[in-house]
This record gives sequence, C-alpha cells and structure tokens, in this order.
Amino acid sequence: MLGDGSKRNLYELSYKELLEEGADVSVSHPNILVLRGLRVLFCEDCHVLHPPSYMLHNALWKQVTTKLQCFLCFKCVQVRLQRNLTIDDFTNALVNDEIRFGFRLGRAYKGE
Ligand SMILES: [Zn+2]
Repeated sequence: MLGDGSKRNLYELSYKELLEEGADVSVSHPNILVLRGLRVLFCEDCHVLHPPSYMLHNALWKQVTTKLQCFLCFKCVQVRLQRNLTIDDFTNALVNDEIRFGFRLGRAYKGE
C-alpha cells in the first residue's frame, strides 16, 4: 500500500498494483490509469508503465494498430512491426525531441 510510508512513486508500481491502489482507467483514453489526479500511460500489450509519449508517422501507426486510441511501448511496437524502430519512423513533433536526440547520440557513440 502507498499509505504505509513507502517512498515508491506511481511509476514504480505495476499496472496491477495501481489498480489495487484504486486507480481508474481514464474515460478519455483506455491506456491511461488515473490515481489521485495523476495520469500514467501503460502499454496495451505488456502493461508496462510509461511516463513519456511519442508520435510515429500515421501510415506506420496504422500498420501497428487499427485503434484510434492506443498506447504501445517501443518493444511491443517492434514486435508488431517485426522490425526495429528507426529515427525516420518518428514525426518531427516536439514530444519526439528526446527520442531523436537519443538516436543521434547512439549513432555518434557508434561512430556512424
Ligand atoms: Zn509493451
């Protein structure tokens, strides 16, 4: 229980633990749990919790899911696509800035 003096934050809890704490599935998005006003995204397939969001190009996302509202972690997107994601799969949206930076950093680190 969170009320037992534990220092764990919401992102350290599993999907099951959040539900046990009384979290509700958001009425606005089926992949968001809401607990005490805080919203936590979780993956549709593996239920891993994710703080950040991201945007893939629409045509690619339609290959991954036909649902209008769905959140998947990178690992599960790659499983559905049967290939690794690349920097070109992400849109230029601001929400992707850290992801694009990570790709560029990885390339620089590998000397590409
Ligand atoms: Zn997943």
